[in-house]
Amino acid sequence: MRKYGFLKHSLVDYPGEVCSVVFLPGCNFHCPYCHNKLLGQEIAQNGWFLKDIVRYLQEAKRMITAVCITGGEPTLFPETLVFLVETFKGMGFKVKIDTNGSHPQQIETLSPVVDYFAMDLKTSLKRYQEITKIEAIDKVILDAMQLLLQRNPNSFEFRTTLDWNFVDEGVVEKLGLLVRKNTRWFFQRCRGVYALSQEAYADETQRIKNVCKLAKKYTNFVFLRE
Ligand code: SF4
Repeated sequence: MRKYGFLKHSLVDYPGEVCSVVFLPGCNFHCPYCHNKLLGQEIAQNGWFLKDIVRYLQEAKRMITAVCITGGEPTLFPETLVFLVETFKGMGFKVKIDTNGSHPQQIETLSPVVDYFAMDLKTSLKRYQEITKIEAIDKVILDAMQLLLQRNPNSFEFRTTLDWNFVDEGVVEKLGLLVRKNTRWFFQRCRGVYALSQEAYADETQRIKNVCKLAKKYTNFVFLRE
């Protein structure tokens, strides 16, 4: 029987909801700032079986209103993902999926039932192969973006981790041309891998502000997640 990573409650993984978070290990990308490289190991040691997650959710239903399914990359496991979505929706929860956008067909299949998607925009389409090591990934990412852009603008977000090795002002301009005026676009600081001095942190803060200002040329809904 399969185990999952499980966070009982989170205030930051589903906009406006108190959610639980279910983690599926394994990813097809190679982001240097990834926090989840040891997820498989962690789940093997401390993971939850689905029946225990379901039991917890039944008991916590007054407090928890949604479930976020994340990874790794959850769309790598289509059958499992469909089953999880159906299970949680069947229990009356809103469901959000976090994705790196590498499986647009999963987004298409699940779009009618999933309440919210969060998709990473890691760099410009042209540079995507640098970070993912996957050939022709740019077209796949564009497909995934276009599928989400057909949805209600309040039902998805793009999010960009500001690793300056892959994101700069030019990248934000190029991505900006692909979003709509009403698209939610979240930026987040790249933490953990690159330790910064106080001065460098202040410089970075200024650069983040500049990048957000630039993004606001393309959409009215730019946010910084600290
Ligand atoms: S897409 Fe997400 S889970 Fe996969 S390597 Fe990148 S940061 Fe890690």
